[in-house]
Amino acid sequence: MTKFEVTILGSSSATPAYHRFPSSQIVNYNQKYFMIDCGEGTQFQLLKYGFGYNKVDHIFISHLHGDHYLGLVGLISSMHLNGRGKELVLVGPPALKEIIDIQLFHSQTTLRFPIKFIPTQTDQPEIVYRNTEIEIETIILDHRIPCTGFFFKEIKRPRKIVKEMLEIYNITPDEIPALKEGHDYVIEDGTVVPNYVLTTDSPVPRSYAYCSDTLMITSFIEQIKGVDLLYHETTFLEDMLERARDTHHTTAKQAGEIATMAEAKKLIIGHFSARYRDLLSHLEECKTTFKNVELAKEGITFSIEN
Ligand SMILES: [Zn+2]
Repeated sequence: MTKFEVTILGSSSATPAYHRFPSSQIVNYNQKYFMIDCGEGTQFQLLKYGFGYNKVDHIFISHLHGDHYLGLVGLISSMHLNGRGKELVLVGPPALKEIIDIQLFHSQTTLRFPIKFIPTQTDQPEIVYRNTEIEIETIILDHRIPCTGFFFKEIKRPRKIVKEMLEIYNITPDEIPALKEGHDYVIEDGTVVPNYVLTTDSPVPRSYAYCSDTLMITSFIEQIKGVDLLYHETTFLEDMLERARDTHHTTAKQAGEIATMAEAKKLIIGHFSARYRDLLSHLEECKTTFKNVELAKEGITFSIEN
C-alpha cells in the first residue's frame, strides 16, 4: 500500500510548554513530504525526527498567528545555507509573502532557490495542490483571523486489468483505457463481457483533514465526511468553553462531536494550551463524544490505512 502517514512535530498552542513545540506536522505521501504549519523550533524537530532540510518541498500555513508560522523564516534560511536549489512551494495567507520578503530584504539575502507562493483565501475551499495520486484542498475555518485547514485526498485510481482475461477475450491494447474506466467489453458477435470480469476495483481512496485553529463549526463537515484521519484542535477543556468561544478555539468534547458528525474513522487531538501539563483529561473528555481518539505527541507517526 502507498505510504500515507502524518508525523507530529509540534502539538502546543501559543507558547512551547512541557516539551511540547508549537504547531507543525509532516504528511508523507509516497515519499513526498508536505509540511503543515511551521511554529518556532520546527527546524529542530525536522532534524530530530530525521526529515532533514531538503525533503520538504511544500509548506502549508493555516494562518498568521505566530505559533503556526514563526519557524518559517528560520527554516527557509537554513535551507538556503544548506545549498538548496530546488523550488519550495509555500501555501498560505497573502500577507505571508510580505512577511518573508521583508525579512529577506533587510538581511540582504537572495535565496539560492525559488519560492513559489500560492495565496489562500477564506471565501470557499479551493484545491491548492494536485498530482496524479493526491490532491489537497483548503478547509474554511472560523478563527480570529483568516484561517484555513487542509484536506488531503487520494485520487481514485483506475480499475486494474486482470491480465489473463485479455488473452481469453483477445482484447487489444487500445481497448484497455476504456476497461480501466469501467466500461464493459463487447465481442464481435455482440456478446457483452461485464467489466467486473475483466478488471478489479482499485482501493478506496484515503484522506486526512487538518483543522486548526477554529471555533467549533460544522460548515466543513460535508466536505470531509468519512475522513480516515482527522486532526482537530482542542486548545481547551469543556470547563473553559467560554474562553474557547472568545478566542475562537475548540474544547476536547467539541472536537469529538465534530469527529462523530464527520464520521471520521480516527481522531487526533492537538494544539493544547500551555496551561495543561497533563493531557489525560483531554483524552478522557474527548472519548465521551468520540471513542477512537489519540493525543498528538511530538515524534509520533500516524499511518493511514484502508
Ligand atoms: Zn491561532
